[in-house]
Amino acid sequence: MLEKLVMAALLIVTVGLFGRRMAMLLGYLRLGAADDRLPKHWGRKIKDQIVVVFGQRKLLQWTVPGLMHFFIFWGFVILFTTIVEAFGAVFQEGFHIPLIGRWGPLGATQDFFVAAVLLGIAVAFFIRRVQAPGRFRGSHTKDAEYILYAITGIMLTILATRGAEISLGHFPYDTAWTPLSNATAQLFEGFSEATREALDTVFLWWHSLIILAFLVYITYSKHLHIITAGINVLFTSERPKGALIPMNIDIENMTEDDTFGAGVITDLTWKQMLDGMTCTECGRCQSVCPAWNTGKPLSPKLLIMDLRDQMFEKGPALLEAKKTGDEAFQEIVAGLPSLNPDVVEDEVIWDCTTCGACVQACPVNIEHIDSIVAMRRNLVMTESRFPKEMQGALQNMETTGNPWGSAPQTRMDWEKGTSKQEALEIPHIKDNPDADVLLWVGCAGAFDDRNKKVMYDLAKLLQIAGVNFATLKDEESCNGDPARRMGAEYIYQMLAEQNIETMKGYQVKKILTACPHCFNTMFNEYPQFGGMFEVIHHTEYLAQLVKEGRLKPEAEMGKTVTYHDPCYNARHNDVWQGARDVIESIPGTEYQEMHRCGHGTFCCGAGGGRMWMEERMGKKMNMERTDEALASASDTLAVGCPFCNIMLSDGVTERQKDDQMAVKDVAQLLLASIEFHPESSAAKANGNGADEAQTT
Ligand code: SF4
Ligand code: SF4
Repeated sequence: MLEKLVMAALLIVTVGLFGRRMAMLLGYLRLGAADDRLPKHWGRKIKDQIVVVFGQRKLLQWTVPGLMHFFIFWGFVILFTTIVEAFGAVFQEGFHIPLIGRWGPLGATQDFFVAAVLLGIAVAFFIRRVQAPGRFRGSHTKDAEYILYAITGIMLTILATRGAEISLGHFPYDTAWTPLSNATAQLFEGFSEATREALDTVFLWWHSLIILAFLVYITYSKHLHIITAGINVLFTSERPKGALIPMNIDIENMTEDDTFGAGVITDLTWKQMLDGMTCTECGRCQSVCPAWNTGKPLSPKLLIMDLRDQMFEKGPALLEAKKTGDEAFQEIVAGLPSLNPDVVEDEVIWDCTTCGACVQACPVNIEHIDSIVAMRRNLVMTESRFPKEMQGALQNMETTGNPWGSAPQTRMDWEKGTSKQEALEIPHIKDNPDADVLLWVGCAGAFDDRNKKVMYDLAKLLQIAGVNFATLKDEESCNGDPARRMGAEYIYQMLAEQNIETMKGYQVKKILTACPHCFNTMFNEYPQFGGMFEVIHHTEYLAQLVKEGRLKPEAEMGKTVTYHDPCYNARHNDVWQGARDVIESIPGTEYQEMHRCGHGTFCCGAGGGRMWMEERMGKKMNMERTDEALASASDTLAVGCPFCNIMLSDGVTERQKDDQMAVKDVAQLLLASIEFHPESSAAKANGNGADEAQTT
């Protein structure tokens, strides 16, 4: 009887401590800014739970640690039944779970998972102690090991209890189903019945006490994710992957006193706070981050941990003040340390290229970019503190509609071609309102010399294929991506609204662009401002034209080509096949995949507005990627983004390898194979020959 009373008291205390802590954590979330995350697409939400939480798909991208976690996770799910059995046994001798508690397959599954979890723990220790991968740098590794010891204790006491029960004849399952427990029972042979009874009680209590302590401990440790991961996945943004959180600033009525973005911890949304509570400190985000991998101070893991630690440090005082009243609360908020630079250094915030590798790698769907951009918005729009070289690009976007600051009237200079090329005559959309596609030139295509050539070649391909297209000429402005990702939301909003109005005015339906940033912004973000357009990236469009036979690459190019996937195509928008289809359609081309490709591509360093910022620390990202391309032993590095084109061309030049590797847009490679075929109509018209193909 006493035994039952003590266990009941312990259960009540544990549940009380657990509940109090959870209420406190919920209180912290309530301190965060509003964010409408109520699930709207339940089909997608259920799929996420099945795939990400129960299927552990993101973890399984890393085979050994993934399998280890898979078995530990499912061990927890299945072995919950043994916990019920253990506590039931304290209160009732011979307890079994109603209906299924004597079913052999359940006993067998329990046995299997005890073994699988123990194996998983051994692998976890091996990874942490022997392999010691860099991704754990900065994580609370001791905390992780305490949990591993606790889980080991839980597994061993399950086995010991089951062995003792079998030896006493109390075991609810047919032992033919439970070979591991049966083998453990052999250890009890030779003991008297009284000793076996005593050992059974000791192991049962030991097991129960570890579980009770574990339940409270996890709410104070990084293993809180056991509770929050499923919830964090449930509230993952339903925005398209490449879209940022919209702000909808009232530009007309903006004043100097307005504050924007996240300046102190309570400016983060409740979801961003939940992200912090959910971080497992696994370091997968850190291991794929191009900034961290090239020696910058930005680690997405440490950033999320720093924000979480700030929430846990300031949370209790904020909750107390909230109880006292609004005035007391505002007083505490006013005294909070700034997120930048007090909690996270400014440099860390500006190092991010918004490449999305961290978000994709995170097994619990933490959204690092949202927090980073929220802090950038505060630095730019509230504090006016940002790298000085950004100033020019922002001003240029505001005054001339492009970050280069070039005169808008020169936007179509590229159509004149070079002295050896014919001028192209491309109509304005108002003169060709029936155009099938609007060719969106983009600022790089309009003003950067390398990319002007790409734009010329793309337009040439469209003409060869007989596509009915037009442009906006000088009515086109920057799509706003660099401003938005730098944190200057009001400039983005101004540019986006202007472009949307212009295109709606001409009843544009379909946009073709050679820039993944223009593509992502117009496809994923313009709908936030009512701009609903069909947008297609030129690599996909050209692949279609080749497939339909409207473009026929015929000249043997004899090139070995590798392709650099732009982050804003491959990772943010799942666009990568078209480029490969086009390259492989070119006769005599040998295609080499780089190690980091598709979803796993490595950023060239220009995203997130970093094109207009200095890279002061560590190895330059473009050099890291260039070195990888050079190591592929290809003679041509194909690109599908004007910024990648600039970054990687510069990289090859800096390595003095221009004679070894040419950097070419996919459109340029395709046109070369069409124009330089002696039999092609384009070649005949231009007087080009196959010999020249080798010189491109
Ligand atoms: S978005 Fe890219 S650069 Fe930014 S933190 Fe994530 S992985 Fe690093
Ligand atoms: S943010 Fe995600 S990937 Fe990064 S350490 Fe935390 S749980 Fe792991």
